[in-house]
Amino acid sequence: MAQPKKFNAMTQQALDLLKESRHGLSMPEMREALAATAESQEHFNRRVRDIRKRFALEKFYDQDRGWVYKVGAEKVGAAADLGQVSEKLRAAVIHRAHGRCEMCGRTIRDDGVKLQADHRIPTSWGGVSTLENLWAICEACNRGKRNHFASFEEDDMRSVLEFKNVHERLAQFMRLNLGRPVADYALEFVANLFDRQDDWQKRIRELRYSVIGLKIAVTKKRDGRATRSFYMLTNWKELPPEPTRVIRAYENRNRSRSKKAELPTSDAD
Ligand SMILES: [Zn+2]
Repeated sequence: MAQPKKFNAMTQQALDLLKESRHGLSMPEMREALAATAESQEHFNRRVRDIRKRFALEKFYDQDRGWVYKVGAEKVGAAADLGQVSEKLRAAVIHRAHGRCEMCGRTIRDDGVKLQADHRIPTSWGGVSTLENLWAICEACNRGKRNHFASFEEDDMRSVLEFKNVHERLAQFMRLNLGRPVADYALEFVANLFDRQDDWQKRIRELRYSVIGLKIAVTKKRDGRATRSFYMLTNWKELPPEPTRVIRAYENRNRSRSKKAELPTSDAD
């Protein structure tokens, strides 16, 4: 296996600084500490992207400092992962699917489809070759998925996948595709990246709440035995910091309001 390329001196220094900082660093803080203020922001962004290729990099919003970065573990698996799926893993994935395409529901027996083990999150977006990130899909679905995914920019995708908050992640992903329909499976990947969402469609509906204010159009299309949904964002508004908290507070307010309305008016005393 080839050794990963060495970082150049300043990128390495930025990485060391990130590792030493307990509360993470914002871009301006990093640039100041490195005396890299003369360097263009674009150039500096590239350094951070290089770090992100090999290390988990968490990003969160701080009211006073803006976007803050925290470095995590080195992506040993991802760096070594060239998208190769072993025969054993492939067999396990196909076996688990019980002869049915996990995307459109067509079967080997009834529809004569051929199943292929495919990465749910593409390796180019940082997906790895594990049982969890693989599924068995038919050739037609694989082709459709490939074409759809090819329309997303790799760098953009990687940056979107860094948002730890599910609402932020979904919103930023749709923002990159403003005015373009995005397939449900792509949004499902993005939603389920860090924690399994019991209802990722609801996360999308929540983005339409007046407190968030995104406009998302949904269209449906038949595809084999399944009906595919496509979501298209038609406006953009910056999300508030901690959007999930804002959404839950909004739901609670609505709930208590409707409960009050349900109270019997003839409650004596
Ligand atoms: Zn299929």
